[in-house]
Amino acid sequence: MEIKTKVGIIGAGASGMAAAVTAAKYGAEVTLFEKNDRVGKKILATGNGRCNLGNLDFSEEKYYCRDREKLHSLFQVFSVWDTMSFFESMGLMIRDKDGYLYPYSEQASAVLDVLRMELDRKQIHVAAGREIKEASYKEDRAKFILLDESGKEYTFDKLIVACGSPASLKKGEGMTGYQIAESFGHRIMEIVPGLTGLKSGEDFTKALAGVRCKAEVKLFVDEEMAGSDVGEVQFTDYGISGIPVFQLSRMAAYALKEGKSVKAVIDFFPDQEEKAFSYMARLRFETQQDKSMEDYLTGMLHKKINMVLIKKAGLKPAVAVREAGWEKVKELMELCRNFEILLDGVNGMDNAQVCAGGVDFGQISTEMESELVKGLYFAGEVVDVDGVCGGYNLQWAWTSGYAAGRNAAGSSTRQIALGQEEYREIELPEEKA
Ligand SMILES: Cc1cc2nc3c(=O)[nH]c(=O)nc-3n(C[C@H](O)[C@H](O)[C@H](O)COP(=O)(O)OP(=O)(O)OC[C@H]3O[C@@H](n4cnc5c(N)ncnc54)[C@H](O)[C@@H]3O)c2cc1C
Repeated sequence: MEIKTKVGIIGAGASGMAAAVTAAKYGAEVTLFEKNDRVGKKILATGNGRCNLGNLDFSEEKYYCRDREKLHSLFQVFSVWDTMSFFESMGLMIRDKDGYLYPYSEQASAVLDVLRMELDRKQIHVAAGREIKEASYKEDRAKFILLDESGKEYTFDKLIVACGSPASLKKGEGMTGYQIAESFGHRIMEIVPGLTGLKSGEDFTKALAGVRCKAEVKLFVDEEMAGSDVGEVQFTDYGISGIPVFQLSRMAAYALKEGKSVKAVIDFFPDQEEKAFSYMARLRFETQQDKSMEDYLTGMLHKKINMVLIKKAGLKPAVAVREAGWEKVKELMELCRNFEILLDGVNGMDNAQVCAGGVDFGQISTEMESELVKGLYFAGEVVDVDGVCGGYNLQWAWTSGYAAGRNAAGSSTRQIALGQEEYREIELPEEKA
């Protein structure tokens, strides 16, 4: 009788399910534990309910991680193209929107459905509503022992920790993955919320709440530019949000934790060349001398932004352009390109899309196996690897899940990527005339 490798996976999120399907494909007997009553809950919330599952504009540069070479090796084995074939082989049609990949139906539930069907098809034992509280390795039995919340024990040859992170969860939740990793001697790199909004105590935030506009956001840490991004910025009553802010938030979070001064500098005209903009400002000044400052700005930016800018420049909305004078108007125009917002915090983990930090990637091999305990694997966000917005975090979940699943099943990922294996010539029946 064939003896199958028994693989236990803690966490049925994106990475855990990818690991389960892969381990089963390579011959393992798989049990997937999920503390929620249903698998893959977070997938349903991704991409505003549409699930941006990958991105064709791909490079390791899209990730924050301590070892890009290792990351490169993993993506060599399972790339964005493999993600496409992985899902297509399960029946999901994919829509490419400027490189951003979505299920064709643009329903995140479709991604979860095909994964659930595959778990079923591959006869993976799904233990939903079961929370694993402890994991250990018994040297004498060469087995991993898991204990659930009722004290029930489960035994496996290999273990994959795919517990995700506390991002988007209630305070105090989502820490088990780190606790289990620590119990095996793994180091946990400091965690902070990533892809989230930034807080400011500036008095104008409330006046701008609800405004959305295209802008460039530059992040300065101790007066040095740390990064920038362009996109739709959303002003909120606590500060700033939107994708360009999300992209910079993990940098702000670490810097604020270290007690550094952090500010965002906003350019409200990111697509205007400096010289042309100055010329336009001067022309408006010359031709609109009789207008009030409020009217001078009308038609340029959102009304609420105009009022805040006028106030910040030390002007009054009703004062005439002529009276304000060119120097003051020039100052106002410069403010439009360099609007400073002092930041004093980041949104909580419960509002973050991902978590930066986690199980030290340096103690994990290119097979996603622990360097400390043989047979122990990690996958997904629990590891100290996080990507920028745009499908990169799910890509990491699929890639790391694939590598962990395949290696735990005892098949080397070094040889061949899944996509290359899945494609084969199919002869279609001839159409009748
Ligand atoms: C609102 C939102 C939108 C997002 N949109 C996108 C997007 O469009 N594109 C993108 O690339 N990324 C997106 N992300 C990020 C992406 O969803 C995550 O990076 C990814 O889901 C992480 O997968 P994971 O398997 O590592 O963790 P998770 O999906 O969090 O899965 C971990 C699972 O483990 C379970 N678990 C934890 N501990 C235990 C335990 N002790 N016992 C049993 N089960 C346990 C959890 O309940 C959970 O189901 C988004 C995130 C959020 C919050």
